[in-house]
Amino acid sequence: MSDSLDSADARSRDERDVLAAFRERFVVAEEELIYLLGNSLGRLPRDTAGRLHDLVGVEWGERLIRGWNDGWIGFPQATGDRLAGLLGAEPGEVLLADSTSVNLYKLAVAALRARPDRRRIVTDDLQFPSDLYALRSAMAAAGDGYELHIAPSPDGCYGPVEALEAALDENTALLALSHTVFKSAYTYDMAALTARAHAAGALALWDVSHSVGVWPLQFRADGVDLAVGCTYKYLNGGPGAPAFLYVRRELQEQLQNPVAGWMGQEQPFEFELNYRPAAGLRRFLTGTPAVLSLLPVAFGVDLVLEAGIERVRAKSVAQTEYLIALWEEQLRPLGFELRTPREAARRASHVALAHPEGWRIAQALQAEMNVLLDFRRPDNLRLAAAPLYTTFQELHAAASRLRRVVADRLYERYSPIVTETKPVT
Ligand SMILES: *Cc1c(COP(=O)(O)O)cnc(C)c1O
Repeated sequence: MSDSLDSADARSRDERDVLAAFRERFVVAEEELIYLLGNSLGRLPRDTAGRLHDLVGVEWGERLIRGWNDGWIGFPQATGDRLAGLLGAEPGEVLLADSTSVNLYKLAVAALRARPDRRRIVTDDLQFPSDLYALRSAMAAAGDGYELHIAPSPDGCYGPVEALEAALDENTALLALSHTVFKSAYTYDMAALTARAHAAGALALWDVSHSVGVWPLQFRADGVDLAVGCTYKYLNGGPGAPAFLYVRRELQEQLQNPVAGWMGQEQPFEFELNYRPAAGLRRFLTGTPAVLSLLPVAFGVDLVLEAGIERVRAKSVAQTEYLIALWEEQLRPLGFELRTPREAARRASHVALAHPEGWRIAQALQAEMNVLLDFRRPDNLRLAAAPLYTTFQELHAAASRLRRVVADRLYERYSPIVTETKPVT
């Protein structure tokens, strides 16, 4: 084969990779399995398994209820303070709680109530659907007459920046967007759009689920008001790990949690019948923290901090650039289309490739080629580079197998009808 991007070239990229050793910090149970779903469920860090075992056996098993005062009660804030280092936030501005959808709901209602004379939320049609559901729920909770303005992307890949800016008016309470779009990995200019929202008198709420852990976020420098995000993707916090929320310090006393609960009360253990919100961010807690699920988040965050987010980002750019080069050389001639921006500055850590036979290709890859990636209807295959453990050789092998499945028509053995019997795809 005359490809310039051959397997020797991939090996030499891995040899030059300054983060290569981090792969050994993760459980890799099947060396041959190419796992390109780090943007969906990150791998298990080796340390996490042992420390969880101790948490359960010693802290829960032996310390019993004393564990709360030994430290559990502070996990949401303590983990948030560590995570602040990846968000460009300060200690006391980040809290771990609930899921991303719930946090989005809480912060959106709080924001709408803080702008009571305005009735519009501006967003785009590239949003993760759950975010739209949560925004609509927030509007219903905040009162009557709200409008969700959904600016359409020109091509299903790029964010509709101009349409968003045009939609921000004197009636807009909130601009709510995913910083990185889950479909295409397009990434908005957070500082610029936040500034536009502020100029219109609106607040800005960012979902950074597909950015956190691979992108050097700068919430304070970018003037971000509110943010939420997920910890089981590039932060490797484990299935269903608690999500986080960020509220800029200056706003904390102005906003109220719409789902009040005792953990956000000023004195939870006074068992007072009236709710008085705690000072600061703790008011955004509702119920008892998920202690067992919070611990792995802290380890996941520590791994990224240890690697250094700038180095992680540099490798992410190198790997997505490499994937795009492989596409250009080997996959484009077979009918794959690139659905991810080519400019690194507008791209996070996955690459979306569309193919009319995407569904059958994904099935063949999984069944015969030992490659796990995801397929999103109608034709979108997503390949994520998780810089802490994805190798260049894996990316090279994945591209070669994609090529084989199409060139040798292996996908033809699979049904073209999208039938998915599993509950999670
Ligand atoms: C993964 C993801 C979520 C997940 O929401 P949960 O409520 O935690 O299940 C939400 N929004 C975006 C943009 C995501 O990427």
